[in-house]
Amino acid sequence: MNEKEFLPRVAMSIHAHPDDQEFTVAGTLARWARLGCRVVSVIVTSGDAGSNDPARDAAYKPELASLREAEQSAANQVLGIAETVFLRYPDGELEPTIALRRDLTQLIRVHKPEAVVIGDPQAVFYGNGYINHPDHRAAAQAALYAAFPSAGTRLIFTDLLEAGHEPHNVKRVYIHGSEKPDTWVDITGTLDVKITALKKHVSQLGDWDPDKMIREWAKEEGKDHGLEYAEAYKVMVLEEEKPEN
Ligand SMILES: [Zn+2]
Repeated sequence: MNEKEFLPRVAMSIHAHPDDQEFTVAGTLARWARLGCRVVSVIVTSGDAGSNDPARDAAYKPELASLREAEQSAANQVLGIAETVFLRYPDGELEPTIALRRDLTQLIRVHKPEAVVIGDPQAVFYGNGYINHPDHRAAAQAALYAAFPSAGTRLIFTDLLEAGHEPHNVKRVYIHGSEKPDTWVDITGTLDVKITALKKHVSQLGDWDPDKMIREWAKEEGKDHGLEYAEAYKVMVLEEEKPEN
């Protein structure tokens, strides 16, 4: 990456489940937060399907949701995130609906992020071993189209306009998990907090220590780009920065 590093003043991270952000983009968010960016974290479902314990049934879901929200809030505190929003859509049943896109459009118009950070709405398969969770794709697709065109187009969702939410143009969309990344963010200084934040998701990790895997992923992403540890993105540049002076 030859251009000067882009540092948003406000960024919004939008993901389907508690822990998605920590597995993927948390090093970038922590870096930006340290450099003065106000980061807003939007969690679309509260992960209420995240248990295969045979002793549990539907009655456990509200309890699990509040447990996972607490874990996410703790993770976000570690990362230096300014605000966390839980939209509480049902886990495992997410679709990229107009209702979801509208909710995300409202959040973008309220918080006015320069950068929106999401997963890859095109990713169905990762290698031969992982089918991307459909909630991840649904959240990413709804967020992508909230960022563009919905947030910036005055006459899309005119009920939002009537409620005082003027259009806002997002400058960049950072898409993690793309097969063709073009931007590598240096997370050498924030890898440790990424791992610490991920470890807050105790209900999901159990006894497993993610340290080695996260470190290897970050090393792999950085190695051809002169970085010890990195997170890789495809970045859509919707509005160029004005040159300084
Ligand atoms: Zn997930």
